[in-house]
Amino acid sequence: MRLRSIVAAVATAAAATLTVAVAVTPSASAAACNGYVALTYDDGPKAGTVDQLLNALRSAGARATFFNQGNQVQQNPNGVRAQQNAGMWIGNHSWSHPHMTNLSQQQMASEISQTQNAIQQITGTAPRLFRPPYGESNATLRSVQSQYGLTEVMWSVDSRDWNGASTAQIVQAASQAQDGGVILMHDGYQSTIQAVPQIVSNLANRNLCPGMISPSTGRAVAPDGGNPGGPTTPPPGGPTTPPPGNPGGSCTATLSAGQSWNDRFNLNVAVSGASNWVVSLALNGSQSVQNSWNASVTGTSGTVTVRPNGNGNNFGITIMSNGNTTWPAVSCRAG
Ligand SMILES: [Zn+2]
Repeated sequence: MRLRSIVAAVATAAAATLTVAVAVTPSASAAACNGYVALTYDDGPKAGTVDQLLNALRSAGARATFFNQGNQVQQNPNGVRAQQNAGMWIGNHSWSHPHMTNLSQQQMASEISQTQNAIQQITGTAPRLFRPPYGESNATLRSVQSQYGLTEVMWSVDSRDWNGASTAQIVQAASQAQDGGVILMHDGYQSTIQAVPQIVSNLANRNLCPGMISPSTGRAVAPDGGNPGGPTTPPPGGPTTPPPGNPGGSCTATLSAGQSWNDRFNLNVAVSGASNWVVSLALNGSQSVQNSWNASVTGTSGTVTVRPNGNGNNFGITIMSNGNTTWPAVSCRAG
């Protein structure tokens, strides 16, 4: 960890006493957090490396999400206890790391439920997050996930540590992560462990903090139980009362890209000009709405309408591409 500054001894000639002030390096949780990025580690807990990885995270003041593999949990239950004791979040990464989309629905359920049970027996809590091996998913798998109350979590940045990336390359990849983003890494590589201090320090330089993954959105958010004074929800938004003298006035909705996957993509929508608004999104082709957050969506295909639900003027939506990745046309009217 980089020491920011050390204030040296201060003494005045007149005083006989010596005052020493030492500047304490701010911990990650005390730094200004203008956004959150989730560090994720898959395929563990690996008996040979998980303790080192946890030490590196603890030293950097960072919490991370571990997508554990059930057969590793069975072999190394102490690794799971260590993750829990270190304040990490624990997700499900299947039992045996198969190509899930090649399995029957029953086999998918077995991979998921065995891992849920193994982790719950150790930690007392069943995971809420599932990351499919190789990032491969389909509608059948997602329906099985939902049966077990799991949210599918992919990633916005792949560190490529699984493909022999060096520590410097892992650090460089992680530096691409934006607010809400999720970095894919793995338990089992020295290069990954050695990247931890620099990743956390680089995030701090961008006023980003390591966060947890929201089970409702699959995006990085403020850690639970550990962000006194920081915003949780909503992000800074507009006024909560309508602007005077402009009932039925105009508003503007602006789209920006969120996380994307092979089969779907997230859009972030920022509304300005009115706080009581109705946004229309004209989906293309057979696109459909899979998920949304911070607003109420009516309809799932064709033109859907979105209204505020008390969470400010920024919302997000997940759209199943169904072969069409063109963003929907957007319009806004004051409600
Ligand atoms: Zn994996």
